[in-house]
Amino acid sequence: MHINDAVFLEDLCPKFRLRQWRKSIHRFTEKSCIYCGKPSESIDHVIPRSQGGLSTTQNCVPACLSCNGDKSDENALYWYRRQKFYDPRRAMAIRAWLEGDLRLAIRLLQWANPNFKVKNKNYTKDESEFKAA
Ligand SMILES: [Zn+2]
Repeated sequence: MHINDAVFLEDLCPKFRLRQWRKSIHRFTEKSCIYCGKPSESIDHVIPRSQGGLSTTQNCVPACLSCNGDKSDENALYWYRRQKFYDPRRAMAIRAWLEGDLRLAIRLLQWANPNFKVKNKNYTKDESEFKAA
């Protein structure tokens, strides 16, 4: 596909693209809130838009409505530190996510939540290759 076609398609159906993108974000954490582990019902900006945060995968995490609403316009890392359910492993996961290292973020979330399942087989494959190296 020519690059101009891709841009055109994205302009043509932005709502569809947005929906797919939101779904993919939730899929990373198996639809659990990155902050507290409850079911994620929304997408939260780690760095709020009011502080220049972008709507990119790195800056958008799955969050439950309770966390999203409570956090409001605050920087997620500062907000999260004050929560009762604060877990340093999750804080590291949020940081890794923000840096675009989703693989590391997912590993840290798994560590924080032993019930977390990974359905993405490519991820598991990467993992074994990593260990073998
Ligand atoms: Zn939550």
